Amino acid sequence: MSKRILVIGAGFAGMWSALASARLLDQVGRADVEIALVAPEPELHIRPRLYEQNPNGMKAPLQEIFKAVGVRFIQGKVEHIDAANQTVSIAGVGADTSSQRVDYDRLVLAAGSRLFRPKISGLDQHAFNVDQVADAAELEAHIHRLATRPESEGRNTVVIAGAGFTGIETAAEMPARLREVLGEDAAVNVIMVERSAAIGPDLGEGPRPVITQALTELGVTWRLGSGVAAVDAKGVMLENGERIEADTVIWTAGARASELTAQIPAERDNFGRLHVDRNLKVKGVDAVFATGDCAYAATDDEGNFAMMSCQHAMNLGRSAGHNVAADLVGEAQIPYSQPKYVTCLDLGPWGAVYTEGWDRQVTMTGGVAKSLKTRINTQWIYPPSADRAEALALADPLRIVVA
Ligand SMILES: Cc1cc2nc3c(=O)[nH]c(=O)nc-3n(C[C@H](O)[C@H](O)[C@H](O)COP(=O)(O)OP(=O)(O)OC[C@H]3O[C@@H](n4cnc5c(N)ncnc54)[C@H](O)[C@@H]3O)c2cc1C
Repeated sequence: MSKRILVIGAGFAGMWSALASARLLDQVGRADVEIALVAPEPELHIRPRLYEQNPNGMKAPLQEIFKAVGVRFIQGKVEHIDAANQTVSIAGVGADTSSQRVDYDRLVLAAGSRLFRPKISGLDQHAFNVDQVADAAELEAHIHRLATRPESEGRNTVVIAGAGFTGIETAAEMPARLREVLGEDAAVNVIMVERSAAIGPDLGEGPRPVITQALTELGVTWRLGSGVAAVDAKGVMLENGERIEADTVIWTAGARASELTAQIPAERDNFGRLHVDRNLKVKGVDAVFATGDCAYAATDDEGNFAMMSCQHAMNLGRSAGHNVAADLVGEAQIPYSQPKYVTCLDLGPWGAVYTEGWDRQVTMTGGVAKSLKTRINTQWIYPPSADRAEALALADPLRIVVA
């Protein structure tokens, strides 16, 4: 092989990048370019489902599909990117303490995002979260252990810090999950704490009445206008001085792009995402493309930018993969474009709410929206089968999927 495309990350964006590069190289008959993908595990973690039960089951294997399309998987964690010399250093994971350098001709940074943890007293020690599989599994084990504790208000109370997308989806699930462990008649409290003046501050006015109705019917309550000031083993203190006794505190507020973005000498937005051009190449840096939650990318000509979402990451991945390979072999690039934007918010046993457009007009609610959400979460966002032709066809960057 004389050339190498290196993809960092096996999430939605990284997986689709690798498949889309393979598709283009296949089309133009370039067998002399290697596609290598580095990630800690050869599996896609279904992060959008981590507020559900059984988080350890929210993984989809990728070895077979990578083998089918000819992507070399490198197990490890990128520690350093040297953009000037086009090389990365990779550390082994788990028992593997080795390290290696891998050179690249083109790089796709698809290392995703992490939950943002501000400096709040006790947050790291006492708050749970649903950001990564291991975090969500820790929360699940804790919820099961609650049954062994003596009955108290704190034992029966879950505080969810942050009433954004993830906070709402998590809160909506919690009453039923607690009752399953503590008994159907247990007096459970699920309380969202949100510093803004409204639930779902970024979701806008459109879906708010539906969200409020659903949460009320599920028995979820909230405190608005004051954030969490401190967390301890027995509850939280709010900024306004109110104390809430809770054995379970779940932090859901905010995400930041992978810290690897800071190693690329380029402009980043407030979430740490790299500014990219319409082809998803990092502005001002040769040979580096960014995608998924690592990219601050325009979705259209109307001034809208991709959200840190699976919906955008999958299509950003297809575009970055196509364009990085096209750039390397001198084929036509296809500017990323995803003008249609939807949201589908899970509201637990109540159902879901589905909106269309950046102004989030509600077009579906309740059970109908829930069956769409179930299809998205259990089918649409999963990897394709390991059938080479089918996987390559699905990696077409012009096949924009709205999920
Ligand atoms: C609880 C929850 C609910 C969500 N709900 C929704 C939803 O309903 N709809 C929606 O659209 N989005 C949702 N999201 C957001 C969505 O999951 C993310 O936007 C999406 O996962 C981003 O995809 P990605 O490929 O950019 O990054 P990720 O999925 O984060 O993947 C990143 C990949 O990079 C790898 N990686 C990280 N660091 C390194 C390193 N140093 N070296 C090598 N590999 C590395 C990781 O192991 C992983 O394989 C939700 C997220 C959460 C946590």
